[in-house]
Amino acid sequence: MFKLTSKIALVTGAGSGIGRAIAQTLAQAGAHVWVVDRDVAAGASTVTLIRDAQGHADFAALDVSNDADTLALATHLPALDILVNNAGIGHVGNLLTTTAVDLDRLHAVNVRGPFNLCKAFVPAMLTRGVGSVINLASIGGVVAVRDRLAYTVTKHAVTGLTRSLALDHSHTGVRFNAICPGRVETPFVQSRIAEYPDPEKAYRDMASTQLNGRMARPDEIAAAALYLASDEAFMVTGSCLMIDGGWSAGK
Ligand code: NAD
Repeated sequence: MFKLTSKIALVTGAGSGIGRAIAQTLAQAGAHVWVVDRDVAAGASTVTLIRDAQGHADFAALDVSNDADTLALATHLPALDILVNNAGIGHVGNLLTTTAVDLDRLHAVNVRGPFNLCKAFVPAMLTRGVGSVINLASIGGVVAVRDRLAYTVTKHAVTGLTRSLALDHSHTGVRFNAICPGRVETPFVQSRIAEYPDPEKAYRDMASTQLNGRMARPDEIAAAALYLASDEAFMVTGSCLMIDGGWSAGK
């Protein structure tokens, strides 16, 4: 089950955290993975990890917030079977502490990034009638997260983008799904924790939003991406898969 032999995948933000784990997992399942990141050293080290494990990977440098570069990338790469829009950035703030510039910055990476990657690579998928697009949304794409106004706004847009793409294009055979993690132990979360006056308390508080009392590991998110990428998920499109330890179940 869940074999990706001879499939070609692209994972954005694959130089770190969840994206790196997804790239490694897809490669382990047999895919040739294009590791995409704006951080050249981080992306290159993911490629090395994959190749050291006998997998197949190449690196492409890209800032997903750059419209022209994103669209141009598709002219240099082969047609994709799997597109994982994972690159994303966070921001701490409510209405009083979030500026329009903050909102635009998050929107450029978290929303226009996936939108442009889809503009660049999905038309070929639609023509071939084959493809799985996986967008990394968040718990913040389904419910509001306190003091994360810009992040919540942009991640709600990611779930909206996913459902809209699924509605318009699933009849072609291409599938569009979102993954909505709760808190995952990655550099992204570690940097947020470090901003608090008492990081140890912040860590405990963040873990406690999961009903099972701990954060997810990146490989637990990658396992879901592998399933959604695989032919076994043929019937799954337009879904927003919660991997949040029950956070969104209610309180
Ligand atoms: P991370 O910060 O560990 O890694 C993000 C990677 O994306 C980095 O390698 C970074 O260089 C790259 N990146 C950032 N902006 C980019 C850009 N403009 N263009 C290209 N690459 C860029 O993050 P993570 O925790 O692994 O998060 C990955 C995704 O999962 C994000 O979309 C995030 O919103 C989402 N998410 C994370 C959590 C969590 O708890 N970690 C929870 C829910 C959702």
